[in-house]
Amino acid sequence: MEVPLSKPNITALEKKYVMKVLNSGQLSFGDTLLRFEQSFCDTFNVSHAAAMNSGTSALHVAVKALGLQSGDEVITTPYSFVASGNCLLYEGVKPVFVDIDSDTFNIDTTLIESAITPNTKAILVVHVFGQPCHMDEIKRIADKHKLFIIEDACEAIGATWKGNPVGTLGDMGVFAFYPNKQITTGEGGVLLTDNEHYFNLACSLRNQGRDPGSDWLTHDRIGYNYRMSDLQAAIGLAQMERLKTILTKRERAAERYIRLIHKAGLPVKTLKPLPDSTMSWFVFIVKLPEDADREIVIERLARRGVQSKPYFPSIHLFPVYQSQFGFQPGDFPVSESTSDRTIAIPFYTNITFKEQAHVVKSLAEALKGEE
Ligand SMILES: *Cc1c(COP(=O)(O)O)cnc(C)c1O
Repeated sequence: MEVPLSKPNITALEKKYVMKVLNSGQLSFGDTLLRFEQSFCDTFNVSHAAAMNSGTSALHVAVKALGLQSGDEVITTPYSFVASGNCLLYEGVKPVFVDIDSDTFNIDTTLIESAITPNTKAILVVHVFGQPCHMDEIKRIADKHKLFIIEDACEAIGATWKGNPVGTLGDMGVFAFYPNKQITTGEGGVLLTDNEHYFNLACSLRNQGRDPGSDWLTHDRIGYNYRMSDLQAAIGLAQMERLKTILTKRERAAERYIRLIHKAGLPVKTLKPLPDSTMSWFVFIVKLPEDADREIVIERLARRGVQSKPYFPSIHLFPVYQSQFGFQPGDFPVSESTSDRTIAIPFYTNITFKEQAHVVKSLAEALKGEE
């Protein structure tokens, strides 16, 4: 049995909406893009949503719209996808990493305050794997020290902290729509904010620096082409209409994995929702025991048709981060030991019980040393 790591969930509805856009002739800045953006305002009770061509673009625009620049520092987590660090580097902003909590894999809020300096301007939180960070603590610290909060909620659409949707809890929030995310537009992202000024700036930055309402050949500042096409928005609009169903299916699949792993008595650690939050399941991560050789486990899984991948390497150990900022192995021991032992196993909206049972059986064999 072949079980891929990830698979997008596309139905007749997505195809219908894409055909509608193709037939309309309005392929960019059309009605579908507006409807897609409005669906975020309606679903997540937020004033403004600006869709872009990737989550990384939306993070970059968030950093830029907040006016962060060279000389500024932003506190963030090393245990994430590289984009949450790179969006700072694009603007010459210094990432100040803080180690993570070994249970949630999210930023350890007890370490944030000692990392604050006079140059600190913001905290960029990542709700890693769809598990919300401790937002009460983060807000308390941000308020006390007058810092912005940027939420990288790219892996957490639909997750909630004390009943409130992540992505709407700081100054700016971002979701992403690469095909392995909970919902996809092929490529894409969206920036959410309640602040009209930041929203207008974001819309200008994504559209070659044109202010809203400006003529097509008027450029009020240096901007980018970070626009999302209406074809992408059409896929996204259908996905948003099905969001609840998609998230429920993923939650059931995650619960099945947790049950199967427990039943098999596997010595691995998994994520579980915390009392104050609901998770949105992005990928399914298992943390292998210390004595397991991860490369060999991945190989043995592959021999059984099961795709898996080390997930995530710690950002501070990428060459650019080491050479530009002097980060070294040992700087963030919890993040590093987590990076050394976590793998993603197959997980997608329509994964079947049979597939999951095969994955868990294969993992059990691999850990027991069966070639
Ligand atoms: C997916 C993701 C992004 C954005 O990725 P894009 O491929 O640019 O859409 C940013 N941060 C995190 C943590 C992500 O998982």
